[in-house]
Amino acid sequence: MAKTKEDVLRLAREHDVKFVRLQFTDIFGILKNVSLPVEQLEKALNGEMMFDGSSIDGFARIEESDMYLRPDPDTFVIFPWRPQDGAVARLICDIYNPDGTPFEGDPRNVLKRAIKEAEDMGYTMYVGPELEFFLFLTDAEGKATTITHDKAGYFDMTPIDLGENARRDMVMTLEQMGFEIEASHHEVAAGQHEIDFKYSNALDVADKIMTFKFVVRTIAQRHGLHATFMPKPIFGIAGSGMHTNMSLFKDGSNAFYDPSTEDQLSQEAKYYIGGLLKHVRSFAAITNPTVNSYKRLVPGYEAPCYIAWSCSNRSPLIRIPAKRGASTRVELRSPDPSCNPYLSLAVCLKAGLDGIKNQINPPAPTDENIYHMDAARRAEKGIDNLPSSLIEAIEELEKNEIVKEALGEHVAERYTSAKREEWDSFRISVHQWELDEYLVKY
Ligand code: GLN
Ligand code: MG
Ligand code: MG
Ligand code: MG
Repeated sequence: MAKTKEDVLRLAREHDVKFVRLQFTDIFGILKNVSLPVEQLEKALNGEMMFDGSSIDGFARIEESDMYLRPDPDTFVIFPWRPQDGAVARLICDIYNPDGTPFEGDPRNVLKRAIKEAEDMGYTMYVGPELEFFLFLTDAEGKATTITHDKAGYFDMTPIDLGENARRDMVMTLEQMGFEIEASHHEVAAGQHEIDFKYSNALDVADKIMTFKFVVRTIAQRHGLHATFMPKPIFGIAGSGMHTNMSLFKDGSNAFYDPSTEDQLSQEAKYYIGGLLKHVRSFAAITNPTVNSYKRLVPGYEAPCYIAWSCSNRSPLIRIPAKRGASTRVELRSPDPSCNPYLSLAVCLKAGLDGIKNQINPPAPTDENIYHMDAARRAEKGIDNLPSSLIEAIEELEKNEIVKEALGEHVAERYTSAKREEWDSFRISVHQWELDEYLVKY
C-alpha cells in the first residue's frame, strides 16, 4: 500500500532518523541529493524544499532556475550502513516548477508520462533489469584503477572469486532496503559481477536501479574496492550490460502470453518487439549514452550489435526467454548500466507502444548465430546494425519523432546538445591507441 506523508513522519520518529536525503536524477543519469536535518522533514514533505535548477546539468537556464522537490513517500528508506541511532534516510523526489506544474525536464516525469500513456491503453509495464559491473582495486591514494580484483569467470566461487564478500554485503544491504534479490554471481570477465532483483513496475524499477548503483558503489568502497558501471572498462574482455526484461500486463494478466499460438507469444508481444526493433537505432543514444557504450556493442562478447530477435539463441538484440505464462517477457540486451533508467525505460515503452498502436510486425526470428553470418548473409536477411558510435546514435535520435516525443522537447534538446559536445570532446582528444599506432611509425 502506498505510504502517506504521516507514515513517513512516523517512520522517521520510530527509527530515530536524524538526517533525510532528498534525491533526484539529472538527465544524464547522475543521482543528486541534498541532506536535511529531520526537523525540516515535514516542510520537505509539503514540497517546500527549493533548489537552483540552473546548477544541475541540462535542467534549467539561470533566468528560470527556482525549482521545488516533491518527495515520493513510497521511496522512504533508511541507509543500513550508517549509524542506526541518529539514522540517515532518503526520499526520491519529483521536480516541480514554482507554478506547481511538474518540470518537463525531470527524467522521473518523462517516465511517468510514458507510463500514463500505457495506462490509457490499459497496460502496466513490468521490468526486470540485470545489472553487471566491475570491481577494481584502488591505489594507495584510494583512487580507482582498472586492475581487476580477481581472475574468476562465470559462476566461479571462492577462493578465485574475491568479490564474494563484497557481493554478499551488497546483497544484504539491498535486502535491508527492500529489494528482493533473485540471484547474484560472478560474470564472465575477471572482476565482473551481476546481481539481479525481482521485476516490478517501471517507476519502481527505475528508482531501484538508481538506488542499486549507489549502494553497490558505497559497499564496494567499504571493501576498499571501486565498483564501476562503465560499459566497457577494459578492451578485449566482456563489457557490462543491463539486460532489460519487459512485459505488459492487462486486466491483471500478462498480455505477452497467448497459449493458443505456436510460440505462445501474443500478437501484442509481436507488435511490441516490432516497435522496439523499429526504433532501437534511434533510442540507442538513451540506452547506450556514452562514447564508451559503443565499444561494448561489438561482436564476440555476448553484447548485441545486430538488430534481430530470437526465441532460442542469445546472439540477437532481443531474446525471448523460455518461460511463459505470467513470466512471458521480452529481453532487450542492448541497454548498458550507464544509462539514465527513467529515460531508458520511457523510450523502450514508447517504442513498444508504437509497435502496438501501428501494428508493426517484426521480421521472422533469427535462430542461427548472427555472429557467424557474414555481412552478405545479414543483408540478405535484412538484419541491420546498431549504431557504431555515439554520434551516429545522436543523429538517429534527432530524426525520430517517437523517441523525441517520449523525451519531451526540453530533454531531447538538452540531451542531444550535451551529447554532441561529449562526442566532440572525444573526437578531438588524442588517445593512447593513436600514440601506440603512429608515434613511432611516422
Ligand atoms: N556482459 C554481456 C553484455 O555485455 C552479457 C553477458 C550475459 O549476461 N550473458 O551484455
Ligand atoms: Mg543475467
Ligand atoms: Mg549477465
Ligand atoms: Mg540476460
